[in-house]
Amino acid sequence: MKKFSLKQIFRIVLASKIVGFLLIMIGAAFVDSILPVFFVFGSIGLLLILAGVFIDAVYYVCPKCGLWLGSAALPSDYCRHCGTKVDQVEDKKGD
Ligand SMILES: [Zn+2]
Repeated sequence: MKKFSLKQIFRIVLASKIVGFLLIMIGAAFVDSILPVFFVFGSIGLLLILAGVFIDAVYYVCPKCGLWLGSAALPSDYCRHCGTKVDQVEDKKGD
């Protein structure tokens, strides 16, 4: 299984949250006219946001201590738990 870099995870989480939010907004525009559209868009949007939160919590972790690095919306260069330098770039190391 290919391991995603933190940078890629950051992009995936951000994209799923933004798309999910947009879907809910689009669905909300139909809440008075076509209610099923609201439910379909709303639930897909909610799932995307939940998936984003889940990926964030499970994969956006420190490579050294394994603890959550905090919200992926605010990427940090250092782990706030153990102080390890966190590589945000994918092609830095060769190992
Ligand atoms: Zn750490």
